[in-house]
Amino acid sequence: MLFYIFFNKWVIDMEIKGPKVKDYIKKFIVEPQKKVQLKKFDSGWVQNETLKALSEDAAKDLLEKKLARDRASLADAQELLAAAHEYGVLIVLQGMDTAGKDGTIRHVMSGVNPQGCEVHGFKVPSAEEHAHDFLWRYYDVLPERGMIGIFNRSYYEDVLVVRVHPERMEALPKKLGPDAKGFWEGRYKDINAFEKHLVKNGTVILKFFLHISKDEQKNRLLDRLQNKDKYWKFSTADLAERQYWDQYTKTYEEMLSATSTEYAPWFVVPADYKWMARTFVAEVVTSAIVGLNLSYPKVSDEQIKQLMVAKKKLESE
Ligand code: AMP
Ligand code: MG
Repeated sequence: MLFYIFFNKWVIDMEIKGPKVKDYIKKFIVEPQKKVQLKKFDSGWVQNETLKALSEDAAKDLLEKKLARDRASLADAQELLAAAHEYGVLIVLQGMDTAGKDGTIRHVMSGVNPQGCEVHGFKVPSAEEHAHDFLWRYYDVLPERGMIGIFNRSYYEDVLVVRVHPERMEALPKKLGPDAKGFWEGRYKDINAFEKHLVKNGTVILKFFLHISKDEQKNRLLDRLQNKDKYWKFSTADLAERQYWDQYTKTYEEMLSATSTEYAPWFVVPADYKWMARTFVAEVVTSAIVGLNLSYPKVSDEQIKQLMVAKKKLESE
């Protein structure tokens, strides 16, 4: 019996590692199994000793320069990711309305070859999507090997918005729906298992919660109302959602606590300052790809011989 238990454990526990990131970034990772309190994560910019010593303008300047460098490194890293064709990278972006998901995507990915990157935004599910299990619509658009896939909102909405607004939940059989005992824990477990499966098959998963304060959301919403060019961005739905700030915070905290794992960690990104959030995300994505230690595919002696024949042929034309 003991042998059986030991053997089973040995077989089941294939070691799967999470992304490699720089040491100072580790304090922004939600520790697996740890109960998250978002108020303990600073949403501002004074995040380390170097930045603390600087004025806001100087910090902004420093980080914007860093972002420019990181963008260049990310472009190189992405090229290698594509050439090696072993891993895919899934970037999940979540956050309250106005947290800066769209802007982060635009700024971080602007230097990357568009052929190596795909962005998918997820809105209210269609009737067809609601007729399937909650992971169905995401599965189809996961990044393949060599690609970076960005989810602007994701399957995490299926444990967030629908929990805050139960009426937006798909019609599940009553016995299996949100009133059933352990329903949400069950969804977290499904998500963890889904992500584990992806990681075991070569997807690197990086999940970012863009953390803004309620005051900063007010500034951003007001900004949209004070600037004619930004009127289009204002949605009265965002104002309605703002009333649920505390419920969202609680729901996010529970979700982050239950779904940050070694293999697919959550990063809580200080996002009150856009330049802070963008630099942070670029740094994590770049270091995670570099950390894979990939190399360009090797060319065999036989292939080199063929290449030289081709070269001669072209030159003699
Ligand atoms: P936006 O990101 O501003 O374009 O808004 C997208 C809207 O779709 C947000 O209000 C989300 O809450 C909503 N949404 C996204 N995914 C889901 C989902 N799985 N179930 C219900 N609503 C969703
Ligand atoms: Mg919106």
